[in-house]
Amino acid sequence: MKPTKLLPALTLLFVALPALAEEVVVYSARNEQLIKPLFDAYTRDTGVQIKFITDKEGPLMARLKAEGRNTPADMLLTVDAGNLWQASEEGLLRQIQSKTLEANVPAHLRDPGNEWFGLSVRARTLVYNTGKVKPADLSTYEDLASPKWKGRLCLRTSKKVYNQSLVAMMIHEYGEEKAEDIVRGWVGNLATSPFPDDTKAMDAVAAGQCDVTLVNTYYFGRLMQKKPNLPLAIFWPNQNLKNKAAGVHVNISGAGVTRHAGNPTGAQKLIEWLSSDKAQNLFADVNMEYPVNPKVAPDKTVAAWGSFRQSLINVKEAGSLQTKAVRLMDRAGYK
Ligand code: FE
Repeated sequence: MKPTKLLPALTLLFVALPALAEEVVVYSARNEQLIKPLFDAYTRDTGVQIKFITDKEGPLMARLKAEGRNTPADMLLTVDAGNLWQASEEGLLRQIQSKTLEANVPAHLRDPGNEWFGLSVRARTLVYNTGKVKPADLSTYEDLASPKWKGRLCLRTSKKVYNQSLVAMMIHEYGEEKAEDIVRGWVGNLATSPFPDDTKAMDAVAAGQCDVTLVNTYYFGRLMQKKPNLPLAIFWPNQNLKNKAAGVHVNISGAGVTRHAGNPTGAQKLIEWLSSDKAQNLFADVNMEYPVNPKVAPDKTVAAWGSFRQSLINVKEAGSLQTKAVRLMDRAGYK
């Protein structure tokens, strides 16, 4: 039956039906408020329906593993390359070939084995008390281990994957021995025991309990939106280094197609769309992160923090060296 032979109303129905039939199921460690507007936009654009469940990455990966071939999930969306690397290690993702993703996602922000792809960039950088520190006093992550910072440093707990990833990258840059010296130096410079989150560490810097800390910039953005008068500013470290440790440590939020996806093509198309000019701002701006696609400019608030050079080490190292990083931090007494 040719659609042209149908009545106009029926023609419409005929055209609409295949679109309604397609569905992509996403397991997301990003919360609903961050992803729902994006998925709604995708459905408006393509007619493809997206079903999702949100949970922490641990339970989502355990669920994928337990469900095996019977999983309804086509795509896993999570934060931190360490987690994506883990998912890939556990055989939960599949390799995909995509010229679009190769073009939109810089090589250091995706899996060299093509199982996961960064969709937004999260920069872990220095935040200092503007009343107590001059930007010229700051230089590198490594320098925070030097005696001049004795009793002036605050850190978030080593239990958080963000710090494990940061230390993993430092192991890649310097080798274990030197990385351990640096972390030991940090611990020796702490003003107080590590904090449970980035915001509390910044609160302590603002209150003068310490002078400098290490945080993901979106936490800085959120805090300054609430309390714009805090004496805090961002510093971009490692900008003038010529070695492997050059550039600000970045991590990603990203996604991959699940190993047992029922609709792998649909999942791939969704990931490709998320990396496009059209979706990148929607994806990054809502959490004050950076677009992964270099053709897309960050949101105004984020852009005002200044531009910086990123470390070009592949973020997969955050995963492959994570176990070593955790042991190293333990040996160095970083709680
Ligand atoms: Fe976070």
